[in-house]
Amino acid sequence: TGQVEGKVALVTGGASGIGEAVVELLAKESATVIATDVDDLRGPEVVARITKAGGKAIFLEQDVTSEERWVEIAAEIAKRYGRLDVLVANAGIGIAVPSIVDMTLADWRKQNAVNLDGVFLSVKHCLPLMRKIGGGSIIMMSSLAGLRGAPGLSAYSATKGGVRLFAKSIAMECAGAGDGIRVNSVHPGIIDTPIWGKIPTSAAGNQGNAPIDPEERAKLATPLARAGQAAEIASGVLYLASDASRYVTGTELVIDGGMNAG
Ligand code: NAD
Repeated sequence: TGQVEGKVALVTGGASGIGEAVVELLAKESATVIATDVDDLRGPEVVARITKAGGKAIFLEQDVTSEERWVEIAAEIAKRYGRLDVLVANAGIGIAVPSIVDMTLADWRKQNAVNLDGVFLSVKHCLPLMRKIGGGSIIMMSSLAGLRGAPGLSAYSATKGGVRLFAKSIAMECAGAGDGIRVNSVHPGIIDTPIWGKIPTSAAGNQGNAPIDPEERAKLATPLARAGQAAEIASGVLYLASDASRYVTGTELVIDGGMNAG
């Protein structure tokens, strides 16, 4: 039996990196997983791999910034499963500029839209499904950049700091309502995922426009002297999704190879 057997879990940004690892681990631990992503090429591949291995997962194409689509996704989950136990609000993007004066308003808003609007909409439309069954676990993907400043990634850092306190506020709302729903945030350090190849320009500490190599950065910046793996974040998410964490709400789980320690 799995650690999340019988639970239905929605994972946004499930087609790549951390989200993909979360989808895989929750399915391996016997959850029924709905993976969503804008990437409708990789998403179905991830789900096909899981199904082939005997796991229960489906893929739904979704842009987390569209409220219209959130209404449809929630209705689809209600129709198919009649319940939602776990929400992993994981989809996120980062845009780096060496100096904030070079950040366009459009790029500032793009990060807010995915990283904050997307998380807000996920909670707004998933909470009713959880309240119906009298419980659930909401896990929001923040970042180490949501705990401390990230020069070059200031806009990203602002969104992730917002996610951190949004999680705590919703945790208190849910606890106050006595509805059995727990809410926590996860704060990865430098994790080796495709996101680093997508960050458009030079990020903190990097000169010029060379692609950012997470392994190289992590060697210098983390006490454990290596980048983390997506699976190492997924195991933290599994803990928060499972009943092993039933007394844990409003907290932040830092998984960063020791970066934040000193
Ligand atoms: P990734 O790029 O590998 O995966 C992110 C996924 O989100 C992609 O599949 C992408 O298509 C999807 N996505 C982007 N915009 C979307 C939208 N509008 N709607 C739906 N899906 C969308 O990145 P990752 O490293 O796995 O990042 C996952 C989360 O972890 C993000 O929130 C990121 O900010 C956070 N994080 C990552 C690191 C790291 O070092 N990799 C560190 C801290 C926090």
